[in-house]
Amino acid sequence: MAEMNELFYRDPYVRTFEATVTACEEGPKGFEVELDDTAFYPEGGGQLADHGKIGCAVVNDTRRVGGRIVHFCDKPVNVGEKVVCELDWERRYDNMQNHSGEHIFSGLVHKKFGFDNVGFHMDDDFITCDFSGVMTKEEVAGIEREANEAVAANIPVGVLFPSAEELHDMDYRSKKELSGKVRIVDVPGCDRCACCGTHVKTSGEIGMIKVLSSMKHRGGTRVEFVCGLRAIRDYERRIGEVQKVSALLSAKPFEIGAAVEKTLADLELRDQKIVELTKKIFEIKSQFMPTGAKVVVLFEEGLTPLELRSYATLLSEKGKGKVVAVLSATASDTWSYVIVGPAALMRDASRELNKKLCGRGGGSNGTVQGSYKANAETIRAAIEDQFAAL
Ligand SMILES: [Zn+2]
Repeated sequence: MAEMNELFYRDPYVRTFEATVTACEEGPKGFEVELDDTAFYPEGGGQLADHGKIGCAVVNDTRRVGGRIVHFCDKPVNVGEKVVCELDWERRYDNMQNHSGEHIFSGLVHKKFGFDNVGFHMDDDFITCDFSGVMTKEEVAGIEREANEAVAANIPVGVLFPSAEELHDMDYRSKKELSGKVRIVDVPGCDRCACCGTHVKTSGEIGMIKVLSSMKHRGGTRVEFVCGLRAIRDYERRIGEVQKVSALLSAKPFEIGAAVEKTLADLELRDQKIVELTKKIFEIKSQFMPTGAKVVVLFEEGLTPLELRSYATLLSEKGKGKVVAVLSATASDTWSYVIVGPAALMRDASRELNKKLCGRGGGSNGTVQGSYKANAETIRAAIEDQFAAL
């Protein structure tokens, strides 16, 4: 049974109330205030703590500490004074909607598949539930449909305090072994669960239960969902993103998937074309270069590592140099490089050059690649010097 100072149980819909301050002490998390009666819910059972105001003091957190309910406030309040208290109702009601929605969802999963909710987390964005067995996307969608039917049916949400005997015969969900007086939250036809949270009076108040994702997780299923106004907010955000993409692609909102697929396919074709054109450019440039040099070092603008490799390999195959190094700047005095040369020399040469040029990278079969941190002239000199004996 609710304790005498637990107004949040006696009436979970109280938003403002008067209470007398019974204690106020400064602690590490602010001023720790206690009241003779409180509507502030202390975090527990997966439900977040209430915030709000006690007099002029802002309540940032509410916790059960031993047998006491402590409100963590930003300033002190006078002990013995009667003060007006106000809950951050938007936050509390959001918690009630989401918490109650979770009951219906988990209860239906338990009823239909026998799986337990083995992990529950509720933060400012959504609810995460881990169920003890695997459900397909379709099965999760089925539960979501049923849950929303239960919302539409506007079922009264009850709180029961069964005797030990009644409890023994009762089928209910619980996350742990319970002793003493047990509080059972009852949503007829959907769920019966031991719970210490605050709930809406009827399921209709939940408004909407929307699954955002479901995935396999540790041999079971992790489901993320939102309820109530939070679901509306989530929907608004998603519509905003869809509209953005829809405008960018000049596609109708329900056709953006196909439009993105087409755009990506076009991009791939373009990429292939760029690769072919780049190869042609390398081919043409190479025709203007003499053959037979000992060491060729080229600094090119804006080449990717793949392009560096392709160019260096081409020049080497065409006999432009015994060693061909092609580099492209990625930042000031930072260069990506590919060097192609005699396989027997390249391992040691690469190590030496990395040491001299603050470099990294390596390779095999006569081709090494990586990056150097030095200026172009230092790099040219170091590479020419390295292979001077060729
Ligand atoms: Zn609950």
